[in-house]
Amino acid sequence: MTLREPEGELGEALERAIDEAARLIGASRHVVALVGAGLSAESGVPTFRGPEGLWTKHREPDLRDYERFVEDPKRWWELRQERASRFAELAQALETAVPNPGHFALRDLEEMGRLQHIITQNIDNLHQIAGSQAVTEIHGNRTKLRCVVCNHRWPLEGFPLDELPPKCPDCKSGIVKGDTVMFGEPIPRDALDECISQSRMCDCMLLIGTSAVVYPAAGFPVDVKSSGGTLIEVNPTPTPLTELCEVVIRAPAGETLPLVVQKLRAS
Ligand SMILES: [Zn+2]
Repeated sequence: MTLREPEGELGEALERAIDEAARLIGASRHVVALVGAGLSAESGVPTFRGPEGLWTKHREPDLRDYERFVEDPKRWWELRQERASRFAELAQALETAVPNPGHFALRDLEEMGRLQHIITQNIDNLHQIAGSQAVTEIHGNRTKLRCVVCNHRWPLEGFPLDELPPKCPDCKSGIVKGDTVMFGEPIPRDALDECISQSRMCDCMLLIGTSAVVYPAAGFPVDVKSSGGTLIEVNPTPTPLTELCEVVIRAPAGETLPLVVQKLRAS
């Protein structure tokens, strides 16, 4: 029996992909990670779709959610307090979820100056808990509230909710809602603008745990590609974007991104 290097167990194709990913990241000026539910799933956060998904088990959410909020914000806030019990399972999973090695690898890449920005579709705050600084949350953050007029955000914890719906203490005109983007709600302009500007500067985009089939996220990799940038996919399963990618790491981010960090540190 021969002892093998730990990398040897990954399989040659995967090892090559990790090498190539590290080389591409190292050769790029402005690297952006586009992150989806797959990375959160590795931390035990339940996904919404699929057989074990929350929507499958608890029926699809109300597609008129945002419309109802606009019609009657007070009622929406009252329902929000009631709903907390219906989604206890999700709340519990989110409460106990901790960042996985994939989140920490992204933080390391940022600290090393190899990653300039994270665009995430996840609302679970795990990037911030891991220590990442430059993060744009397309779908908001479950631990925050946001003014619908000026987009100012506050931590949910400690925000006064004596009067419903709460008014914005900043612009005084807007109503405050949960930061999480609802069905039918436009992506907050400031977040969308940041994503567009990041995609313009980006010459290498990491696609992590996302099939990027939902707009606007679906457009960012295509923009990067069409302006001459490169794409690296990190996903255990193929996606519609796979064929556009220069490098495909067909494995979970938590197992492979730390190896990419190692390679970059050694180079
Ligand atoms: Zn405001």
